[in-house]
Amino acid sequence: MSFIVAIDGPAGAGKGTITKLVGERLGLVNIDTGATFRCVALNMIQENIKIEEEKKIQEVLDKIHIKMEPNGKIFLNEKEVTKRIRENDVNDLVSPVSTLPIVRNKLLEIQRKIAEGKNVIMEGRDIGTVVFPNADVKIYLDATAEERARRRVLQNQEKGIEASYEEVLEKIKERDKRDSTREIAPLKKAEDAIYVDSTNLNIDQVVEEVINIIKDVSK
Ligand code: C5P
Repeated sequence: MSFIVAIDGPAGAGKGTITKLVGERLGLVNIDTGATFRCVALNMIQENIKIEEEKKIQEVLDKIHIKMEPNGKIFLNEKEVTKRIRENDVNDLVSPVSTLPIVRNKLLEIQRKIAEGKNVIMEGRDIGTVVFPNADVKIYLDATAEERARRRVLQNQEKGIEASYEEVLEKIKERDKRDSTREIAPLKKAEDAIYVDSTNLNIDQVVEEVINIIKDVSK
């Protein structure tokens, strides 16, 4: 039997950071499902496959191998891609790729398998609604688009990536729209998820709140 904490929410809400820290504090395996979609997008880039080429995408999916190590390293077909999947070409392709039913079906299977028999904290867009509708704890982590853009600009500056606030905000709004209006598994709060608004909270405060929710629900 495994214990599952599902963390969903839009891009830039802090899911990655919070999931990692809470996982470390509570001894839960941290699973970033966005990384699995990023691996598919990267594999398509490597093989020069366009989004319309469904047959070729299916071939990629039939032989794809994604491994996530407990230390956060990600391997695509046995090669480490932890940093590579965060680059701009992948950023641009991942959201359209994640709307494809063949991709979602395959990754659903992979995500469930990765969690099998483990106590996990899994972050994404549809974990509490589709991947694990019976998760023990469901949290929807949100923040205003403006605050998420502000955080993303700071992160980018740390990495030496230049992009204006307006540009980043525009992209975030575009991604929110695509993620929440797609036909299958759209980004939305599960009815029984607990809503956490991180707009005015710092990282430590969000970590504390999430840990308190998990402890409360699992009492
Ligand atoms: O979380 P991250 O930004 O890495 O996710 C990249 C993209 O993958 C998201 O914008 C979304 O389109 C897609 N995704 C998804 N379902 C998930 C996780 C990510 O559709 N469970």
